[in-house]
Amino acid sequence: EKTNETFEPICIADSASQEDLIWNISLQARIDAALSNGEIYLAFQPKIMVQTGEIVGAEALVRWKDPVKGHIPPDYFIRQCETAGRMSQLTRFVLEEACKAGNAFEKEGLQLPIAVNISATLLHERSIVSMVSDVLDRHAYDPRRLTLEITETFRISNLDLAAEILGELKALGAKISMDDFGVGAASLEALLKLPFSELKIDRMFIAPMTTDAKALGIVKNILQMGRDLRIIVVAEGVEDAGTLTLLRDSGCIVAQGFAISRPVRFEKILQYHKAREIGALKNIV
Ligand code: C2E
Ligand code: MG
Ligand code: MG
Ligand code: MG
Repeated sequence: EKTNETFEPICIADSASQEDLIWNISLQARIDAALSNGEIYLAFQPKIMVQTGEIVGAEALVRWKDPVKGHIPPDYFIRQCETAGRMSQLTRFVLEEACKAGNAFEKEGLQLPIAVNISATLLHERSIVSMVSDVLDRHAYDPRRLTLEITETFRISNLDLAAEILGELKALGAKISMDDFGVGAASLEALLKLPFSELKIDRMFIAPMTTDAKALGIVKNILQMGRDLRIIVVAEGVEDAGTLTLLRDSGCIVAQGFAISRPVRFEKILQYHKAREIGALKNIV
């Protein structure tokens, strides 16, 4: 019977979504607390010149050390930040900390572009532009020492809007980098339409290149494409000396990976730089 039809409750959520709601609120609170109490912090991983070992950049990678659970993997909690609507808060925090580190490096005589990862979903709204310029202003940070690595480019839903937003970020002076190149759909379309000055070959192709001729062929061709497009190609996920040598012989200019350095606290980046200057690491490559 349908006698009750007009009296049906209109806005009471079912129990599943109430649970979601409560979970999200507590997740938001946990993220907000972690952002302000030091549980969330940055590690930095050097980008080096393959030929010389000279450090030419540092990528800021966010870390969350929960006092009870220990380290929470970034891929996991970045998802959580998205679910909880906290991506822009997280990104603002990372930008602030990156500027502080960059300014500290400069005080020590190390002029280093810092790379910050930007989730593709933040390119769905123009507010990212004012956020970035606001943080740069607050820290009197030279935008030319900021690289924005766009992650998961395949998730950009409107390439035209993203192109405008990235154009504005580039106009501020920041460099725009395409992260994880080769993974997911639409990589080449994004490369065509967005103002990238760097692309990073995903480690999926770098890791097997010494043993898999197909991977090597792909890497060599991406390197050639980089030369044709006049953009910098970075090999990421370089885990051993053999891969580094093969990259150098293939004409790769910039590399990053455990073979060079794991992500480290920022003081270690300064140590690396100073050790290299005095020659202690001259045979790193
Ligand atoms: P990504 O930007 O591609 O960063 C590179 C990841 O590869 C890092 O993992 C790094 O620790 C790892 N890695 C570097 N060298 C090697 C290597 O030689 N071998 C292997 N196996 N791995 C290597 P991590 O720190 O776990 O970050 C994972 C991803 O989380 C990042 O991938 C990036 O997409 C995302 N992420 C990290 N920090 C942020 C952030 O502040 N904001 C956003 N939106 N995403 C971030
Ligand atoms: Mg990255
Ligand atoms: Mg990457
Ligand atoms: Mg990645």
